[in-house]
Amino acid sequence: MKNSIESMDKLINSFTKLPAVGQKTAERYAYSIISMDRNEVVEFANNLINAKDSIKFCSVCGNWSEEDVCSICKTRSSEIICVVKEPKDILAMEKVRNYNGTYHVLHGCINPLQGKGPDDIRIKELLARVSKGDVKEVIMATNSDVEGEATSMYIAKLLKPLDIKVTRLAQGISMGSDIEYADEVTLTKALQDRREI
Ligand SMILES: [Zn+2]
Repeated sequence: MKNSIESMDKLINSFTKLPAVGQKTAERYAYSIISMDRNEVVEFANNLINAKDSIKFCSVCGNWSEEDVCSICKTRSSEIICVVKEPKDILAMEKVRNYNGTYHVLHGCINPLQGKGPDDIRIKELLARVSKGDVKEVIMATNSDVEGEATSMYIAKLLKPLDIKVTRLAQGISMGSDIEYADEVTLTKALQDRREI
C-alpha cells in the first residue's frame, strides 16, 4: 500500500501547478519547505498572499503594478509604445537598457484555434491610448510565432490610418521563440534593427 501523508500530498500537488514543475521537482520543493524553520515557511506563505493581494494590472498599460498606474507609465516618454503579449515580456524588454518608452500588454494574442479574437485581448485599450495624440511610434514585440505575427499584422493595419509609425522587432529572435527567453544582446539588436511594417 502506498504510504501517503495527506498534507504532504497537497503541498506537492500545489507545486505541480507551477509552469515547468513536474512531480519529481514538486516533491523536492515540498521536502525543502518542510525542512525550513517555521518562521521561514510563514514568511514564504505571507509573501505569496501579499503579492497576490497587492499586485493588480496598471490601468494604462496592463503591466503588473501595486498602484493604479505603474511606475513605467508615470515616468517614461509616451511617444513610443512597445506592444507585448504578457507582463513577463516587459521584464525581458527591460533588459534593453536604452529603451525609454512605455509598454502595452495585450494579455494574449489572436488565436482562432483557442477561440481568441481581437476583442478578447487589449486592442481597444491600445487604440484609445494612440488616439490621445502624442504617440509617434508603436513597436510590435509579440512573439515571432504564428499568433504573434498575426496579431502584429492585425494591429498594424488598424494603426496605419491613424498616421502612426508601426515597427516590428527584427528577426534576431528566431521563429517561434519567445521574447521572454531572449537575452539582452539579442533584444537590443532586435530593437535597434526594427523595421517598419
Ligand atoms: Zn503602466
